Amino acid sequence: MIDETHDPARTSWVESANGSSEFPIQNLPLGSFSPNGGAPRGGVAIGEMILDLSLAARSALLSGEAKAAAEAGAGGALNPLLGLPGSARRALRRRLSELLKDGAPDRAEVETWLYPASACTLHMPAQVGDYTDFYAGIHHALNVGRQFRPDNPLLPNYKHVPIGYHGRASSIRVSGAGVRRPSGQKKSPDAETPSFGPSARLDLELELGIWIGQGNDLGAPIPIGQARGHIAGFCLLNDWSARDLQAWEYQPLGPFLAKNFMTTISPWIVTAEALEPFRIAQPPRPGGDPAPMPYLWDEADQAGGAYGLDLEVFLSTRAMREAGTAPVRISRSAARHLYWTAAQMVTHHTVGGCDLNPGDLLGTGTISTPDDSGLGSLLELTRGGSAPISLPGGETRTFLQDGDELSIAGHARAEGFATIGFGPCTGVVVG
Ligand code: CA
Repeated sequence: MIDETHDPARTSWVESANGSSEFPIQNLPLGSFSPNGGAPRGGVAIGEMILDLSLAARSALLSGEAKAAAEAGAGGALNPLLGLPGSARRALRRRLSELLKDGAPDRAEVETWLYPASACTLHMPAQVGDYTDFYAGIHHALNVGRQFRPDNPLLPNYKHVPIGYHGRASSIRVSGAGVRRPSGQKKSPDAETPSFGPSARLDLELELGIWIGQGNDLGAPIPIGQARGHIAGFCLLNDWSARDLQAWEYQPLGPFLAKNFMTTISPWIVTAEALEPFRIAQPPRPGGDPAPMPYLWDEADQAGGAYGLDLEVFLSTRAMREAGTAPVRISRSAARHLYWTAAQMVTHHTVGGCDLNPGDLLGTGTISTPDDSGLGSLLELTRGGSAPISLPGGETRTFLQDGDELSIAGHARAEGFATIGFGPCTGVVVG
């Protein structure tokens, strides 16, 4: 549903929003923040400012569904807002866009709702009750599979089942939090016995996060035709991974301590409504691939259930920062390389009766390109650590070292629309 809020010609009286590649007036993402020591509350990013939803909720400038949405988002965690129907988010978006646009008559009051983002602390946008990580990036699955099983890189279930595992919600943090290198058990192939110690193969995984809006009742699966209505929005997600711990522990039940020490997300929920202009068709499967089973197949989802999102990964070492060298881009990928749509992941998650709740988070799995230009992990970029990448200043990397800063950037782009961004998704390995 494209409306006046997506008009690329619309500008804001918040000057820093105009021309912003992250938060122009066409974006209006939802988050949780504290202004200068204040209590956490809901907010909306606009340029380099944050609009306070708790103040908007008390104003006579909002009414009806828009006011109800602002009230539901006034507290520190946005779960109540995410649990409202999409029409409430849309009403809030339309009203805020109206109030923030150039020439809006009530500017004087709305200005009192704004804080400079630089003076605010960002929090987790919602309390994540459950976090699930999928494996829908087929090129990542192929690349990693080739390292372990050269003759049989993709397991036979991959093209039939959206593969996933239940992750850990407690260790998800917003961008900026330091990443502690995990210690654990590992065993190199030539060692006779396992050892214990800090991971020497600390890696990133370039993913998107899917924020669940309205949930479903236990025992009541979400049909594929309704799945999109249960998605409130998206964020960037870095599924930090300790490859040496993973290789020793992952059989027979999958990743455990190799993944549960930390997950970094971008702090803003870029709403499904903001992303409407960037929906694209799910790329057709290569000839010979099985069609998704009927419960995963929906014509409308195939026609517009993927997204035109560009994703980039930047690395900056401590030495590079001390030398004033800019971060180097090590990967350039895109969301269209996912083998399953977000709706298919939601439907598959619930098809056995599992209930999702507002504020649950799904990871898509690592998103790599078919060629070497956009590999979403160092495991792939360095071919399992055998081919180090070269960095400015003569450094090389196989896996992450202490002091390394890893950043993911994401931008939605479409001809005839304003580009919108996800904001930062950054973490420094603190050792
Ligand atoms: Ca992952």
